[in-house]
Order: sequence, then structure tokens, then C-alpha cells
Amino acid sequence: MTRKKRFICDAMCSQLGRWLRIAGYDTIIIDTPIADKDIFQRAVQEDRLLLTRDQYFQKLDPSKKTVIYLKEDALDSQAQQLKEEIHLNWLYQPFSRCLECNHLLKKIKMPPDVPDRVKEKTDQFWACTHCHHTFWRATHTEKMEEKLKGWQKNQFIIGFGGDLMIGRMVNEYLLQGRIHAVNLANNHILDFSEEGLIETIQTLDHAGISHVGAGIDLKSARAPIIIEKKDLKWVF
Ligand SMILES: [Zn+2]
Repeated sequence: MTRKKRFICDAMCSQLGRWLRIAGYDTIIIDTPIADKDIFQRAVQEDRLLLTRDQYFQKLDPSKKTVIYLKEDALDSQAQQLKEEIHLNWLYQPFSRCLECNHLLKKIKMPPDVPDRVKEKTDQFWACTHCHHTFWRATHTEKMEEKLKGWQKNQFIIGFGGDLMIGRMVNEYLLQGRIHAVNLANNHILDFSEEGLIETIQTLDHAGISHVGAGIDLKSARAPIIIEKKDLKWVF
């Protein structure tokens, strides 16, 4: 497939969508309830490949020009499928797009509100041309870049990726052990970078397990867990 690679991901593939943005691809992530046929229509109109885990979309696309049905849930398996099926270059233009809104980033001087610990480590900063979110090179971007380089060299962690690990841990231990709340504040929580943390939080939220001690921003990281039973109230 030689056409320009632009994507639209349905909500089930949002994690892959964020990684496509990290690699620099123009990627719409559907995060509001929209009818499947409208998502498909948008993909056709904007000449985007539609990435989905929903087999129904294949019925909308008899010519097979628009829909890519992802066979697996695991992120690394999906990354491998795109590499093999459409020869996706995972090192296309890393960190050129806003992870939040998909618009292009531009290089900027150091913003005034940068914490001192960041100033000591980097002098490279970018801002989104649309939402003005600022980004800088840091340990987590290096880890992301390593992952992209690995994918480009066909190194995929199949069956034991961070995404599977947390999912399996939740199913096998937390839910069966009737654990209702967990503390995420520990020195390994960023072992799989910020993406891994977000994935962990999403998995816990999905399983209905409360969490404390880490979050996608300072406010949610500091938010307490309050559990009330009869006359008792626990706050963590
Ligand atoms: Zn943005």
C-alpha cells in the first residue's frame, strides 16, 4: 500500500492510536459515541485507514480499501500487524504530533513554567500548534523512542507486554482476591513509561478497582479513595 498513511481509530484501539501519533502519523481517535457507519464514512471522506477490533466494520468495506481489522488486543501484536500488513514505518516522524489532539508540534524556547528538575535535563521543548500543550524530551520520551525502534526492528513483546501483564494481574489476583483498592505510588510505576501508567489506570477503572497515589495529572494523583461501609469510613 503506497498511499499516504493517515488513520482513524475507534475507541477500542485508542492506545494504538496514541502510539501512531507518537510515531508521527496523523491519527484521529474516536472518543465520543458515534455510529459505526459515520466513523466509516469519515474514514472514506478523509482517505484514512480505519483501525478497529470490531468485525462489523469489515461488512461496510467490501473493497477492503479502508478497514484494517486488528486481530489481537495486545498493543505489540497490533504494532506488528501494521508493520507486516501495510509496512508501517514506526520511526516515521517520532514526536512531531500532539498526543492530546493530533495537531503538529513546533519547536519553542523554554516555557516560563517549566519545573527546575526539567530545566536541568533538557533544553528541547515543543508546543502544540492547536491546544498549546507543551512537551519536552525526558526519560519517558526516551523509553517511547526505544519502543518504536524495537518495533521497527521487528522486536515485538508478544504475550507478555505491559498491557497483558496488568490485565492478567487484575483478572488473576486483584478481582479473585476481592481487592477493591490499590496504591499505585511505587518506584516501578513508570517502568513501562507514562503509557504503561495510563494503561494500568484504564485497566483498573475498567475492572472497578479504586486506585490512589498516581494519576494522569497532579489532581487525580492526589485524589483520595474514600470507602464507606455502614458507620465506618476509610480514607486512603
Ligand atoms: Zn494539541
